Amino acid sequence: MPRAVFVPQRLRYHPSSRARLCTIALCAALGCGLAACTEEPRSPVVVDSPPDPSVVREVVQPSALRRHLEALQAAADANGGNRADATGGYEASAEYVEEQLRAAGYEPRRQEFSYGRSDPVDAFNILADTDAGGSSGNVLLLGAHLDSVEDGPGLNDNGSGVAAVLEVALRLAEQGAVPRDRIRFAFWGGEEDGLHGSEHYVEELSGAEAAAHVAYLNVDVVGSPNGVVFVYDGDGSDGEGEAGPEGSGAVEQVFVDILRGEGIEALPFGFIEDSDYDAFVRGGIPAGGLFTGDAGTKSEAEALTFGGQAGEQYDECYHEACDTIENVDMTVLEQMTETLISATVSLGGIEDGLATGTATEGAG
Ligand SMILES: [Zn+2]
Repeated sequence: MPRAVFVPQRLRYHPSSRARLCTIALCAALGCGLAACTEEPRSPVVVDSPPDPSVVREVVQPSALRRHLEALQAAADANGGNRADATGGYEASAEYVEEQLRAAGYEPRRQEFSYGRSDPVDAFNILADTDAGGSSGNVLLLGAHLDSVEDGPGLNDNGSGVAAVLEVALRLAEQGAVPRDRIRFAFWGGEEDGLHGSEHYVEELSGAEAAAHVAYLNVDVVGSPNGVVFVYDGDGSDGEGEAGPEGSGAVEQVFVDILRGEGIEALPFGFIEDSDYDAFVRGGIPAGGLFTGDAGTKSEAEALTFGGQAGEQYDECYHEACDTIENVDMTVLEQMTETLISATVSLGGIEDGLATGTATEGAG
């Protein structure tokens, strides 16, 4: 499809009110001081045309996605079979991600935190920003948790999300993309023990910094072997969870439209406090993202739409030792990565989109 088909279209979502950055619940949960409770005007979610799908397919590299998964599998194999927080498997996973980011020109940094009372766990997130672009002063954040459970290597949960987010970072750098917003890539620690890494990140933001986060895109489990395609239900229309903060509906629509362009009718998945989007939702930051299902059971209707086995789990190996590289559906992971990079271009304002073969300098 030629690029001209995508009529430049800028839909601007004007926030009608100032950010609800510091709800009473957030203050209670995070113990934030008065400074962080100051309401800041939120930057609106701005939606640009997504890139041409045929270009996106050329940009995302299936062999690189497989390499990322192989590295995470090796990290688990060499360290007792898992990549849980504060283990050798987590450290090896982190070193792989950091080395890949550095090779692409990024300067990854570790954000340390600890959690747990009687026997505190020292953990860390990895953060990396594009340094090209960012003229808006805003941040578009993509995140995937890097830790696994102790019971298995966690390749679908969440090696798949790590591979997708890392791949977007690498390809944007390779493209020399200059986004309107600074794009930040986060690899969270402490998710499996209670969403600690993302909570720490949000807790550390000043009111102004939080307001500059135009959206958070969560990628947790995106290669399910008996999967469906869920998009987080930003506008709360499915009735399962609450609507996200204002702007989340626009983020949801971006994902839905990109997938529809590929002939996929995504299902809404409510914000039910079970992944790293939670701290952002509570903090008033628009949130969204992709999920292909884990412990839930596939319905007859879903099997008709997406194929696979009705009456069985989306991922029988969820949180089990069998969540190895063999458990990840590479076709699904590739599709979700393409969707993620398209949404990043659309929401981050990469003016020239993506263009294969024209990169001159890295974004990192
Ligand atoms: Zn997960």
